[in-house]
Amino acid sequence: MRNLKYDSKALWRMDRDHYVHPWTDFSTFKETGSDVIAEGDGIYVFDADGKRYIDGIGGLWCVNIGYGREEMAQALAEQARRICYYSTFTHLTTPPAAELAAKLAQLAPGPLNHVFYTTGGSESNDAIARFIAFYFNRLGKKSKKKIIARTDGYHGSTLLTATITGVAFDKIGFDTIEDLVHHIPCPNPYRRPEGMTVEEFGDQCIADLENKILELGPENVAMFFAEPIMGAGGVIVPPPGYHKRAKEVCAKYEVKYISDEVVTGFGRLGHFFASKDNFDLQPDVITTAKGITSGYQPLGAILLSDEIYDVISVPQEKGAMLTNGFTYSGHPIACAAGLKNIEIMEREDICGHVREVGPYFKKRLESLYDLPIVGDVRGSHFMLCVEFVADRKTKALLPPEAAIGNRISRLAQERGAIIRPIGHLNVMSPPLTMTKAQVDDLVEIIRQSATLAMDELK
Ligand code: PLP
Repeated sequence: MRNLKYDSKALWRMDRDHYVHPWTDFSTFKETGSDVIAEGDGIYVFDADGKRYIDGIGGLWCVNIGYGREEMAQALAEQARRICYYSTFTHLTTPPAAELAAKLAQLAPGPLNHVFYTTGGSESNDAIARFIAFYFNRLGKKSKKKIIARTDGYHGSTLLTATITGVAFDKIGFDTIEDLVHHIPCPNPYRRPEGMTVEEFGDQCIADLENKILELGPENVAMFFAEPIMGAGGVIVPPPGYHKRAKEVCAKYEVKYISDEVVTGFGRLGHFFASKDNFDLQPDVITTAKGITSGYQPLGAILLSDEIYDVISVPQEKGAMLTNGFTYSGHPIACAAGLKNIEIMEREDICGHVREVGPYFKKRLESLYDLPIVGDVRGSHFMLCVEFVADRKTKALLPPEAAIGNRISRLAQERGAIIRPIGHLNVMSPPLTMTKAQVDDLVEIIRQSATLAMDELK
């Protein structure tokens, strides 16, 4: 416990009465209240009453360097004193915006040497869709507009990115943009058709992509969106070779490959970017956000190849400049946070730490296979999940009223760890500084919680 002086009840009342929360079931929210997370330190967060939790979700897949970094606080304050904000429209810039762009170009794989800033992942994906359509317009290929994405992929919450998103649950009751976006099946090896090898399933996934391009007409397809590992859709690691082969298909039909590294970027899989280092994929574009500042400031970025930049940056028609930008594109305090974040990651070799502890973390989670409801433990490094089932052999799910993900998550929270429920899964994406001993603490709480959940459901 930490001795904190917040009035948690008053905060909860203000929150309940006035804050429209994202992704909230308001019927239960109004009765059960909100959990006020007030402070953080390392991999731990504290609620307003001072109770400490292991933050098993890194805020929301984003607090990569951990909480309470004094040198980060100082960097932000210093930048606020120097220049809190200036536009980067037209020919203007600020020192952190320029320096971070150069640093990102250095870290990004291959020819991704050009950076456009946003304030988050949705904005990055939304903006790149606009850029790529603009790119093909410039090339005179004006019919190339359609977007292919995957069922269960998550790409954001704007009208366009929610359409690109393939998680059916996230769209209930909302409109989407018809006929612009087309989904192919999720490359989930655990749920592959019975009797099919993972290799055969991989072939099928690649055929799904090529067939979809052919069905829509390659002259109409502009881009393909894919996360290296699907996050919110259930931590889905595709079959081996998937991304590289998908890129080859895209290249064959002049379809731009957008690698959505909003979650996988900045160390979560042990490298600054996962596309090339984890999956041998050289995408045309990487979109990112979250871990770029470890959540200390809202910032997103689009990393563009030389080839795309050369087309979109050359005025080819009178007045046809890149009229796309946000007031906070390249915000100096956000970019200062990005620079400090990368400095800390490099100095402490956080990627190396993830490469060392990540496999241990997964192995420890795999020890939960002795619990009969654990169907699948999957993911990689600091992006992991446990899928719970009623029957491991048939992979049948528990009934919805068992609310297994929520149940285990609640029990874990009572025991001092926050893990994220997604349907019948529990997802882990903690700060990347978590040690092996802290992994043990977290896995022990998950074990206790899953065991108790089984008892409750007897
Ligand atoms: N892309 C991926 C893979 C994500 O996981 C998310 C958010 O979780 C987004 C895009 C959207 O990012 P944001 O919530 O910053 O808009």
